[in-house]
Amino acid sequence: MKLKYKLFFSYLILILLFTISLLWLFLEMRELTLTLRRHVQQDVGSIIDLSGQLQILEDLNADYILLFLPGNSTDKILRLERTRLKYASHWESLKQRLFRKNFYHSGLDAITDRFYRALTQNLQNNSDRKMNSRVRTLIGQVDNLWLQVNAGLKASIAAFRKQNLQQARYLRDVKVKNKIQELRTHLATLNRVIGKQSIERSKRMTAIAAKTESLIWATEIGLLLFAILIAFVVARKITKPVEVLKDSVQRMAMHDFNVEIPKKSNDEIGELSKDFEQLSKRLREADRFKSAMLSQFTHEMKSPLGSIKQATQLLEQSLKKDINPTQRRFLDIIKGNYQTLQRLITNILHTTAYDIGQIQLKYQKVDVVRLMAEQLVYLSPMIKEKEIKVNIKLSAKKIECELDGEKFKEIVQNLVTNAVKFSAPKTEIDISLREKFPLIFFSIKDHGIGIPEKEIPYIFEKMYRASNSEKISVKGTGLGLYIVSQIVRAHGGRIKVKSTVGKGTEFRVTIPKNRKLAEEGGWLDA
Ligand code: ATP
Ligand code: MG
Repeated sequence: MKLKYKLFFSYLILILLFTISLLWLFLEMRELTLTLRRHVQQDVGSIIDLSGQLQILEDLNADYILLFLPGNSTDKILRLERTRLKYASHWESLKQRLFRKNFYHSGLDAITDRFYRALTQNLQNNSDRKMNSRVRTLIGQVDNLWLQVNAGLKASIAAFRKQNLQQARYLRDVKVKNKIQELRTHLATLNRVIGKQSIERSKRMTAIAAKTESLIWATEIGLLLFAILIAFVVARKITKPVEVLKDSVQRMAMHDFNVEIPKKSNDEIGELSKDFEQLSKRLREADRFKSAMLSQFTHEMKSPLGSIKQATQLLEQSLKKDINPTQRRFLDIIKGNYQTLQRLITNILHTTAYDIGQIQLKYQKVDVVRLMAEQLVYLSPMIKEKEIKVNIKLSAKKIECELDGEKFKEIVQNLVTNAVKFSAPKTEIDISLREKFPLIFFSIKDHGIGIPEKEIPYIFEKMYRASNSEKISVKGTGLGLYIVSQIVRAHGGRIKVKSTVGKGTEFRVTIPKNRKLAEEGGWLDA
């Protein structure tokens, strides 16, 4: 999938998730608030209605007492009739409402049914149900009492109409009076129970609201963590191939053109990786071609150079004692330049050989002290020219070991040349060569310009020249230390450098004394 679609869809999923969860949160909170409000309204309405019912009962009682007082009984009967009917109709509608509220339309039950069955189970502590059955019983009792009071009232009115005052008084004292009292008590109890029920219910609703809030918070936090996880996974999916690509670019910058990107994603980065692989393939081919060309070219230069060397030696021999100082100086110039050219050619040849993977060591028994001395004699024109004093420290007159003698001479040659090149005239160079079984240690220390600390890690790279060489305009190709490090590595050894700007530089080479050790390489871990 294209990168832009990948990003688009992951953001879309996250946005949708959050929108849905926020909407849900909003709807749930609204539902809860509405239910709570409806409950409170219903409870308050019931309490007001019950108080009204009690008031009508008091009126009824007053009208009933009035009936027995002297005066026009027709008016009083009419009045009592009216109040009785008023009580009856008020009670009928109140009863309906109480039943509806308590047993059919509980908002709390509706919520319980929908989402919170599990949530509210522990909150529904049976008291609601107990309370409901209590209310139901009380309503039944009130209803029953009213039927009795109503019947008593009707009988009393009939007795009055028949002007049977004795019968009416009997009814009042034996039936109606007590029942009205009982009805009053029951209505008051019903009022109290409903009030209590309302308080209990609001408490529970508040608890449910609190639980819902925690549930919503937990969901939101869960969603947030999920979003972070998704963001992380997406970011990783995008950055991983970029990192692989970055590593490959870095490797290429270090002249390693064998770049292969194993897993290519199916997006723009994948396409870029493919193009990049193509590019590295082309560069690899170009590099091989360049190395082959260079190798051929330098080989061709070897024979004319050999002739120059031979001719110079013959000239020196034929002149021998008769040589005058001017001739000596010219001969030294020829020899110095010949050496520079010779070293350049060897370095280029070796570099190209390394590049094509062709370097092979010719192991033989050699005396490294002698090899070093030979090399110093060879380099003496250059050393003399700068009037540099070389101090040599040896642990023995002869140090025998098994290595490639010619390559060892190249190590010495490159390191000594560098020390001379980067030192001021008339300074000193300290060279030490010692053995400690199973290794030989070669160190060369100059008191020259030193290498800037930041550049030290790069000096062994092919064609790298530090800024100091530019500063004092020393000539070179930046191949010397690369060759040295390759030769040391091929011998299973290691090279270290310590340098301070303005104070000097020291290179330390450690090489195992024989081929077996060099090939095992175990000493490196010691
Ligand atoms: P080449 O050896 O190919 O003629 P070079 O001497 O410039 O060229 P290297 O021998 O590879 O190249 O050294 C790399 C760089 O390290 C040098 O250009 C120089 O900046 C720095 N360097 C090496 N040896 C010394 C030293 N003894 N003192 C100061 N800087 C050094
Ligand atoms: Mg050099």
